[in-house]
Amino acid sequence: MTDRVLMPAPPTDSFERKIDYLRLSVTDRCNLRCTYCMPEDGLPKLDHRDILRYEEFLTLAEIVTGMGISKIRITGGEPLVRKNILTLCKNISQLPGLKSLSITTNGVLLSQFAQGLLETGIKRINISLDTLKREKFAALTRQDLFPQVWEGIQTAFTAGLSPIKLNTVVLRGTNDDEIEDLARLTFRYPFHVRFIEFMPFQQRDYDRQFVPAAEILQRLKRVAPLARSDKDESNGPALYYRYESAPGRIGIISPVSGHFCPACNRLRITADGKLRTCLFSRDETDLRQALRQGASQDRIEEIIRFAITLKPEKHELNSHIFRKCISRPMFSIGG
Ligand code: SAM
Ligand code: SF4
Repeated sequence: MTDRVLMPAPPTDSFERKIDYLRLSVTDRCNLRCTYCMPEDGLPKLDHRDILRYEEFLTLAEIVTGMGISKIRITGGEPLVRKNILTLCKNISQLPGLKSLSITTNGVLLSQFAQGLLETGIKRINISLDTLKREKFAALTRQDLFPQVWEGIQTAFTAGLSPIKLNTVVLRGTNDDEIEDLARLTFRYPFHVRFIEFMPFQQRDYDRQFVPAAEILQRLKRVAPLARSDKDESNGPALYYRYESAPGRIGIISPVSGHFCPACNRLRITADGKLRTCLFSRDETDLRQALRQGASQDRIEEIIRFAITLKPEKHELNSHIFRKCISRPMFSIGG
């Protein structure tokens, strides 16, 4: 990763938001089946031919970094199940203009990949962790793999990946009783423990399970006095807090009840090469088709720039109409 090369300023959308961050989903496959994300048997998988090849991901990453988009996060599905993922990470990390390459993982394979990730140039890692209890983990993810995930987190920490952000989706009646215990991890480790409001991709029982950020905050305050902390340098949507004397930080991300959109700096590319400018919009731009029809890099850049001008000002998550429509689930968009 280099910032020695003089790169253009990142593009801005029609609402003056600077777009400098891409989330690249490298697969729709996953080794877990989190109840809130995937049905037990998974969903019909994308055809192998429809998923972008590494050269295609790399071309897209080269185009966006050339446009001034300087932060890329690798995600999925579960990115560590994609074969030769470290090669792709290494190649992306060497693109001129890239300032930060990071990854989001469920941690199952992390003890085996942590060192390799670090060697590709990745430092920042987000790990999903919804519970500290093995049985609950097994019920929530439909796989009894909590010990592997915990070991993965420890390996990542020892290897020196940093910051380590643990992401918890809060679900009423499932893990809301663990908010305090998860938050207490920040006294023991310099982790960022971030609580995320459940988002309505799958409608079943959504309203009962949703816990608003204000309630999460109330529970966090029961642990110890909580002070606001500086924004994380990734400039993401989390509001940060910390307990006095704790080395770690607490984050709250409120896509549903909060003001998520005015600071949105991101684009997403799905594993099948669709560009999405808003997590919650159904609009997609087919970059795979452009790539495979031989469009030049300049033409693809034009297509991306045009899509950025159409990035919606805000999501319609709370509208009745949105709730009734089926959007791609998170594993397919790339969370
Ligand atoms: N498999 C990796 C993982 O779990 O970290 C990366 C992909 S996963 C789709 C990315 C993130 O999306 C995870 O932290 C997951 O908890 C979150 N997620 C999935 N469905 C969600 C939902 N309905 N509401 C909020 N977050 C969700
Ligand atoms: Fe897999 Fe991540 Fe979805 Fe869980 S949240 S099923 S780990 S993609």
